[in-house]
Amino acid sequence: MSETKILLAEKEMPTHWYNIQADMPQLPRPPLHPVTGKPVGPDDLKAIFPTSLIEQEMTRERWVEIPEEVREIYRLWRPSPLHRAHRLEKALDTPARIFYKYEGVSPAGSHKLNTAVPQAYFNKKEGIKRLTTETGAGQWGVALSQACNFFGLECTVYMVKVSYHQKPYRRSMMEIFGAKVYASPSEQTAAGRRILSAEPDSPGSLGIAISEAVEDAAGREDTNYALGSVLNHVLLHQTVIGLEAREQMAKAGYYPDVVIACCGGGSNFGGLVFPFAHDKLAREAKVRLVAVEPSACPTLTRGKFAYDYGDVAGLTPLLPMYTLGAEFMPPGIHAGGLRYHGDSPLVSQLVHDGVAEARAFNQTDVFQSAIMFARSEGIVPAPESAHAIACAIQEALAAREAGEAKTILFNLSGHGFLDLPSYDAYLAGKLEDYPLPEEELARSLSRLPKVDLG
Ligand SMILES: *Cc1c(COP(=O)(O)O)cnc(C)c1O
Repeated sequence: MSETKILLAEKEMPTHWYNIQADMPQLPRPPLHPVTGKPVGPDDLKAIFPTSLIEQEMTRERWVEIPEEVREIYRLWRPSPLHRAHRLEKALDTPARIFYKYEGVSPAGSHKLNTAVPQAYFNKKEGIKRLTTETGAGQWGVALSQACNFFGLECTVYMVKVSYHQKPYRRSMMEIFGAKVYASPSEQTAAGRRILSAEPDSPGSLGIAISEAVEDAAGREDTNYALGSVLNHVLLHQTVIGLEAREQMAKAGYYPDVVIACCGGGSNFGGLVFPFAHDKLAREAKVRLVAVEPSACPTLTRGKFAYDYGDVAGLTPLLPMYTLGAEFMPPGIHAGGLRYHGDSPLVSQLVHDGVAEARAFNQTDVFQSAIMFARSEGIVPAPESAHAIACAIQEALAAREAGEAKTILFNLSGHGFLDLPSYDAYLAGKLEDYPLPEEELARSLSRLPKVDLG
């Protein structure tokens, strides 16, 4: 039997991040200023982002060097392992080879630390003392709290209220690392107070929490804002995942036929997939790239490719992306990290141009796949990551039908040790599916800003 775990030595860790903007057949349209409607320039972003990250957001250079200070912290858990899921293959009785890259080995328990560390580093280097952010399920808040702790920055986190109550231990973790955490909508900001007065019991959403974090950062000279997904520089930082995985697949002696990742804002998808997208775009590799989302929040599969705000209050630039509408309020599904109304412009463009494809799964099917994976491989996956597992299992079963020995690679973006209440609900038969009703989607999309994407 071939290897189960394919490892890289520390010295084999990537020295540069890969920027897909160098290879895309069609670049996304520029972000637009929320007030003037004109393309956003570097100066518009300086109120909340450091210059170095703004440059990374806009550059078309193929390779961006990873600073040694960042690599030193990456070495706490990187390179992360690539596993061959022999036992899952056997359970599925499939001729397919299933590999997964495991990002749950990071101290934060997910891939999010890959970008939290460089974001804290570049802010610190430019004299910033404090970062604000939003968090859904809490993984991003935990990652940023840890990264701020490493570089001696203060950290304030606006956490979506439903998750604040559903996932209390993530707040504990943020506080261990010294962050201040507010349930959003909160009384701390004008945006939060406005929502609370209209709807005192609002469960919150990422769109609302972003409004709060941006408002807080824009109002203070010593404070910047950090976003855990969606933006180009975030996906850039995450490409360490795919660069390592490509080396590891080569060591294992296989190249994937299909690469799969779950997709909330697109960062773990971009992270694993973009280096393979490079092979597809620049070297004619025949590889399928699949983004997986919840059918309760089906941004890529049922949303509209349009300019939309990143937040509810309309403080962020308009981004060209697949969107369900900035006011879309997703149901409280357990994959909190996949409840965003929009998506990365880079991922959206690739799906729009047919370079990548998208699929949606119901949460009961997702949890069923998660349990099967846990019982075969011994790892309890994050509910978000389990969307990728559900899709990988579907591909493996299709391979069995077709008698085809294809190679599947997916991203296990995090572990689910702090999501056990969700598993309890599933095992007690209390989870429901919430396929998005057509009328609700139409209502939300009817309120999109009237800006032509051409
Ligand atoms: C946040 C999160 C996601 C979703 O975010 P992306 O930016 O789409 O990657 C997926 N998996 C885990 C474990 C997460 O924490």
